[in-house]
Amino acid sequence: MTFSAFELVKNALTGQAGWQPHWRKARPKPAYDVVIIGGGGHGLATAYYLAKNFSITNVAVIEKGWIGSGNAGRNTTIIRSNYMLPGNIPFYELGMKLWESMEQDLNFNTMVSQRGVLNLYHSDAQRDSFARRGNAMRIHGVDAELLEREAVRAMVPYLDFDNARFPIRGGLLQRRGGTARHDAVVWGYARAADRRGVDIIENCEVTGLRIEHGKILGVETTQGFVGAGKVGLSVAGSSSRVAAMAGMRLPIEAHVLQAFVSESLKPVIDCVVTFGAGHFYISQSDKGSLVFGGDLDPYPSYAQRGSLATFCDVMENAVAMLPMLSRLRILRNWGGLIDMSMDGSPIIDRTPTDGLFFNGGWCYGGFKATPAAGFCLAHFIASGDPHPAAASYRLDRFARGCVIDEKGAGPSPNLH
Ligand SMILES: Cc1cc2nc3c(=O)[nH]c(=O)nc-3n(C[C@H](O)[C@H](O)[C@H](O)COP(=O)(O)OP(=O)(O)OC[C@H]3O[C@@H](n4cnc5c(N)ncnc54)[C@H](O)[C@@H]3O)c2cc1C
Repeated sequence: MTFSAFELVKNALTGQAGWQPHWRKARPKPAYDVVIIGGGGHGLATAYYLAKNFSITNVAVIEKGWIGSGNAGRNTTIIRSNYMLPGNIPFYELGMKLWESMEQDLNFNTMVSQRGVLNLYHSDAQRDSFARRGNAMRIHGVDAELLEREAVRAMVPYLDFDNARFPIRGGLLQRRGGTARHDAVVWGYARAADRRGVDIIENCEVTGLRIEHGKILGVETTQGFVGAGKVGLSVAGSSSRVAAMAGMRLPIEAHVLQAFVSESLKPVIDCVVTFGAGHFYISQSDKGSLVFGGDLDPYPSYAQRGSLATFCDVMENAVAMLPMLSRLRILRNWGGLIDMSMDGSPIIDRTPTDGLFFNGGWCYGGFKATPAAGFCLAHFIASGDPHPAAASYRLDRFARGCVIDEKGAGPSPNLH
């Protein structure tokens, strides 16, 4: 069913009894043209764009839990395209444009809120580096504004501008950045893909890949074998484990990233703010909670929970930037499995196995990439060629020395 003002009024007057499930509870068919492993935002978006852009509808998305049970439902919901390097800017800007048209495209309220993303700078050197980033963005047609201290104060007056160690000198603002409701993005893509005939199969784990003579034939699952002409692997933090089923060793480590949600407050922060003297980012949800996060837990792990040391580090950053947070009560925190690549940039590519495609290495930033990653992976699977916007995200770039190291942190996944 389609969402419209008419449907809203009709259901309001009839006890909300007319709504239908957003997607079918599909059972696996013996075979599909394309199987996507992983029912996060990326996997569902890939299935949707395969159906919408290429009319490939004999598609299954296979998810071991419920859709959105991975990072798609655990992130801090920030979307932006404030990247600097040539390989990244066109991709993330494609993503931003897809966010801007997403709600009409999916006919679903994904609560895209372009409230602005403000990165604080604290020294002259950092100002120069932010000016360089802003210039690179503007050359590529992306919006960026370098703000002086007083302009930042007008936007976010309660920051600790005169902090003795980290005084705030200004910020780089992308007004088109902001937040989107992460669950709604999953539900929106699932519903739209289902309406085009895609089977979404939940509670079905892929336990093996059937490969013969170097070609993918299908996937072994907890609900039996499912044949496939092509397979897309889109499992974020589980990338290395699933790729190992095809004998691949990826340039990716799994780390835990924690997120935090506070008690609800009256509206206080109306944009996304990031600390420039440490790793900390914060926004306020529509329910009033402050939503924030910081650094990774520094060691590789597959546990979806974080350590107390990182918890404390995030709180120290929080209070250094926003002293009023010291009186805030935290309601919940949780961890998600992050697929950290060696250069901090993602991979969307074919693999050495014929018909097997890979999407991963999203590090901290895969939520904002959800529409563009699905768009570009669908393009690759359907056409056999990389989408121009994702042409740099090849697996062999590490062997070629063509890394895309946005942060300049070198080959240390936990530092990106
Ligand atoms: C705490 C936290 C905060 C974050 N904040 C942001 C942010 O503010 N902005 C941003 O851009 N990004 C953020 N991210 C990163 C972002 O959430 C991820 O990069 C992105 O969600 C990954 O893509 P996905 O949604 O498809 O992954 P997921 O939702 O993790 O989807 C992968 C799916 O694969 C499934 N799966 C795994 N193995 C198998 C198997 N064998 N068989 C079947 N299914 C399998 C999993 O169950 C999972 O549902 C954050 C991440 C975390 C953890």
